[in-house]
Amino acid sequence: MQKGKDQKRKAGKAGHVCLCRLAGMLLCAGILTISGCKAPVQRFTAAGTAMGTVVSQTVYTSEEGVTEQVMQLLTKLEQDTLSWREEASEVAAINGAAGSGTWLPLSEKMQAYLEVLLSVSEESGGAFDVTMGAITRLWQIDTWAALPAEEAGQEKAVLPKQAEIQEALEKTGYEGVRLSPEGIQLPEGMRLDLGAAGKGIACDEILAMLEQNYGTAVSGAVISVGGSILTYGEKPDQTPFLVAVADPFGTKERAGVLTLQGQWCVSTSGDYERYFEADGKRYHHIMDPATGYPADSGVRSVTVVCKSGILSDALSTACFVLGTEKGLGLAEAYGAEALFIRTDGSFAMTEGMKTLFCAE
Ligand code: AMP
Ligand code: MG
Repeated sequence: MQKGKDQKRKAGKAGHVCLCRLAGMLLCAGILTISGCKAPVQRFTAAGTAMGTVVSQTVYTSEEGVTEQVMQLLTKLEQDTLSWREEASEVAAINGAAGSGTWLPLSEKMQAYLEVLLSVSEESGGAFDVTMGAITRLWQIDTWAALPAEEAGQEKAVLPKQAEIQEALEKTGYEGVRLSPEGIQLPEGMRLDLGAAGKGIACDEILAMLEQNYGTAVSGAVISVGGSILTYGEKPDQTPFLVAVADPFGTKERAGVLTLQGQWCVSTSGDYERYFEADGKRYHHIMDPATGYPADSGVRSVTVVCKSGILSDALSTACFVLGTEKGLGLAEAYGAEALFIRTDGSFAMTEGMKTLFCAE
């Protein structure tokens, strides 16, 4: 059993970074001086919300204001680029032009994001699909999931009818997206939804900002944006970053810990993140594009580790929809490491993940 093997490798508990725990903290900056000459490296921590999710940061730097700059970057990325809900965003403009029959020019970044996301859509056989907007809007799982527990459930949440799902499905399908150096064209009614990759894109943008704006002035960082986490550089004592993998069953503090050295992106997709319950059934936010219903592939969560945030995030969603067998193949095709926690509590993982993950 993998679990048994992993337990033997269990690292000491002291010093484990449980990012989930930071979620409840107020925005703050704790400072620890750890180096003497020149500007001292200090440890800054901050927690807040951006992109509709919890953001937790630990940054080792000789400069002030890094964590604030990260928050500004996230707000701008959401408002100007990624969110279909923000009228002035680039995604909203793309969706607004659907059916116009003309090329809508794209920013260089959006062009690059969409190239990657369409490739994941194709490689996953459509399990990941950037054009799920009509389905996600119909289900409104974000809205229902945001209700207090006692108000959620069958009285409040309205399940879409089969005919509505069918109608929405007809407006989806990544094969319908036309992307060229001239820009993009979507068919009438199609709506992009970059929600499955947005937090990973944010990790990539934070990484680029840290490198460009700070260089060696930021020596290390662990920044989590909802289900995606960036590790960067190293800690002053050179010990590895320890990143908790949530227990999707909610029965223990965490399912295990990833031990990471240097720059990585870690994304988790789970059915416990956003959902509502009706008729005793859980309706979560990761949709199977083949059916228009929440994916039911025998997994409760998938964690993907690779260098790129857009890929770790898109792949974790794709792997969740595909399930263990096909998902492992997809992760391996991208050279990414993946950990699946199945509905029966068992683990499945890529070979490389076995050296990173330690179950608890
Ligand atoms: P994640 O938590 O990263 O797995 O992303 C889930 C979000 O991505 C949902 O809230 C939807 O906005 C969107 N989404 C749901 N199902 C899919 C899918 N099969 N492919 C692409 N995006 C999806
Ligand atoms: Mg994702």
